[in-house]
Amino acid sequence: MPGITSLQHQSSHHPSRTTSLLAAAKKHVLFTANRPEIVMANGEGMVLYDTEGKAYLDFMGGWAVNALGHSPAVLQKALASQASRLVHASPSFYNKPQVEFAELLTSISGMDKVFFTSTGSEANESAVKLARKHGSLHLNGAYEIITLKNSFHGRTLAMMSATGKTHWEPLFSPKVAGFRHVPINDLDACFAAVTNHTCAIMLELVQGEGGVHAVDEAYLYGLRKICDMYGILLIFDEIQTGLGRTGKLFAYEHYGIKPDIMTLGKGIGGGFPLSAMLTMEAYDLFQPGDQGGTYTGQPLAMAAGTAVVRELLERDLTGNAERQGNHMMNMLTQLSGSLPLTNIRGKGLLLAFDVPEGMAEPLVSLCMSKGLLINAPNASTIRLMPPLIVEEHHTLGMIAILKDAMEQLWMNVG
Ligand SMILES: *Cc1c(COP(=O)(O)O)cnc(C)c1O
Repeated sequence: MPGITSLQHQSSHHPSRTTSLLAAAKKHVLFTANRPEIVMANGEGMVLYDTEGKAYLDFMGGWAVNALGHSPAVLQKALASQASRLVHASPSFYNKPQVEFAELLTSISGMDKVFFTSTGSEANESAVKLARKHGSLHLNGAYEIITLKNSFHGRTLAMMSATGKTHWEPLFSPKVAGFRHVPINDLDACFAAVTNHTCAIMLELVQGEGGVHAVDEAYLYGLRKICDMYGILLIFDEIQTGLGRTGKLFAYEHYGIKPDIMTLGKGIGGGFPLSAMLTMEAYDLFQPGDQGGTYTGQPLAMAAGTAVVRELLERDLTGNAERQGNHMMNMLTQLSGSLPLTNIRGKGLLLAFDVPEGMAEPLVSLCMSKGLLINAPNASTIRLMPPLIVEEHHTLGMIAILKDAMEQLWMNVG
C-alpha cells in the first residue's frame, strides 16, 4: 500500500506520533482483528482523518453506525447538555430522557413498548429472552428459535449460537442450545423446522454481514402466517436495516409485514453505544428480575438517541437514503459495463456487489490507500453503507476512487 510505505519511510528519519501509537497498540490492545497501519484521529461529516492528517471518504460509516456522519453538531450538543444535567441515575429509576425517547421510538415504529440496551447483541438477547418467556407462559415451555443460515445476530455466546455462519460452528463450544438454522427464502424448510418446542422465528430482512441478501416478500408473508398459526413470535433484527438505512424508516415497511419484536442498534445512537428491543403490548411479559442491565435507559444514551432520531426525521434522511441509494446503484451499474463488478444489490444505503473471488480484500486496501473506506464482508463481496447524509458528489468521489483502484488491480492481475 503506497500510503503506508511513505509513512514508514518518513518515520525512519523522524519517529512520528503514529508510529509510536501503532507500537503501543500492538503491545497493549488485545489482538482480535487484522487492522491497517493507521490510527483514526477525528472525523467530520462524510470524512475521517488519521493521525497523519490523511482524509478518508467514509462509505463504511462506522459499520452502518454513523447515520448522521462523523461528530454531528446535534449529537455533540445533546451529549454536552445531558452530561451537564445527569449522566447516570441507575436502572432503578425512570429518567426524563428515557421516557421521552421511549415515547418517540414507539410513536415512529408502530410498536408499543421498548427496552433499552447498549449493543445490538444485547438487544437480540433481550428479544430471545422475551420469546422464551412467551414460550414458557403460553406455549408449554417452548424455547427454540428458528434463525437463518448466513445470518448475523451478534457476538455474545447466545448470539453466536443464533448466528448462521458456518465458520462459527466449531467455535467456543458448547454452543447455547435452542437455535435451528434454515436456508433463507425457503418456506418449506422453515415450516419443517417448526416443532412444539418453537417459540419464535428471528431474521434480518436484509442480511447485512452475510453479504446483503434480502428476504422475498412471499417468504416473509409465509413466515408471518406460520407464526400466527402456531402463536409463535416473529422477530426482526433491524439492527443494521433500521432507522432509514434501506430507504424506509424500518425495512419491514418494504414488505408491509409487522414483527412481534424488533431490535434496533447501530444507527440509532449515531455512534453512541445504544440499542433497543421493541415489542407489542401483548408481549409486555417480563417480571422483576427477568431482564435488566446497569445501563438500560442510561440518560446520555437516551439523549443521544433522541437527538439522532429527531434529526433523521427532520431532515428526512430516510428519503435521502432512498434517493442516494438509487443514484449509487446507477453509478455502480455504469461502472459494471467496463469492470468485473457484478450482482449489484441491496436497498437504500445498504448496497453490495461482487468482485472476482479473493479480490475484495485487496480492493478494500487499495481504496483505503487512495482515501476511500469500503467494506468487504467476504472474499468476493464489497459492501457500501455510508452515513445517511451522503450526497451525490460524495458518491461521484467514491466511484472515481473505486474505478481507479479496480483498473489498477485488474491491470496487475491480468
Ligand atoms: C451489528 C449487528 C448485530 C450486533 O450488534 P453489536 O452492537 O455488534 O452487538 C446484530 N445483528 C445485526 C443484523 C447486525 O448488523
